Amino acid sequence: MRLSDFAANAGVKKELMQAMENRSVPHAIIIEGESGCGKKTLAGIIAQYAVCSSDAERPCGVCPHCIKAEKGIHPDIFIADGTQTGGLNIEAIRNIRSSAYIKPNEAGCKAYLLFNCDKMLMPAQNAFLKVLEEPPENVMFIMTVSSSASLLQTVRSRSRIISLYPPDVDEAVEVLKNKLPDRDENELYAAAKSCGGNIGQTIELLERGGEEEKKLAAEIMKAAALSAEYPLMLLTNQAVKNRAFAAGVLNGLSELSAECVRAVFGAKDASDTAKELASRFSKRRLLKLQENIQRAKDVLNYNVNMNFYGTWLCAVLRMN
Ligand SMILES: [Zn+2]
Repeated sequence: MRLSDFAANAGVKKELMQAMENRSVPHAIIIEGESGCGKKTLAGIIAQYAVCSSDAERPCGVCPHCIKAEKGIHPDIFIADGTQTGGLNIEAIRNIRSSAYIKPNEAGCKAYLLFNCDKMLMPAQNAFLKVLEEPPENVMFIMTVSSSASLLQTVRSRSRIISLYPPDVDEAVEVLKNKLPDRDENELYAAAKSCGGNIGQTIELLERGGEEEKKLAAEIMKAAALSAEYPLMLLTNQAVKNRAFAAGVLNGLSELSAECVRAVFGAKDASDTAKELASRFSKRRLLKLQENIQRAKDVLNYNVNMNFYGTWLCAVLRMN
């Protein structure tokens, strides 16, 4: 993938493109941003730049190095992942450190991708700092993290920090049309909107089918019927683990509450679950709940802090 194909983040792309043209990309880069906004994709592009052998634009996408990099089989691109057990512990970092001083296998430069550095512990970060302080020649380190604040100031100060943001919804839909050509554009738009334009989270939402979300929505309805704060709080906290998941749960709540309303007004085809759930609410409360769920969906479309949102959602769903 070439940098120009990377979605949104025009300022970041312009600066990086300039640096790539001048062959002056920093040897240590931290890419920060919420999950699904393209951190790994961008890290991959920079790694490809590092190994590319083109005399002109890098990454060129056509040299043998670029082709191997795109297939994920380049021997000079190394990946360590903090979400895997021991992926970024002190031992893993020491191994990276000692191998970094060995010459590249095939390319002119080596690239180390350190994914999900969010929970990298102090000793590991300190070990990593040593290699940043005396960087070997022709080696690049690219880290990804939700927020660079999780990293030591000393690591941050020796790296270039790149902050990524999701594109606006229309731009996200354009990218999604290419990635998911079988999907209807309206469906893509609705999903992208509920994920605040975050492409990765939108794909996750569309591909997962929402079974888990529907199950949680049913549990939330039961807890809302009891108006019990603590159990409801536990459930709404589960619902807000990320924007896409929260959007899926709210969609589940919308559908379920609408079916309950139909059941309460005597619709014969309402499911047994809906009839049973509806019997726990008064008509007035059910209509109010439906209104509040819609309000919660509207609020989610703003860039809300998900931790506060969980607490707020609990209060809104308890309201009579
Ligand atoms: Zn190339």
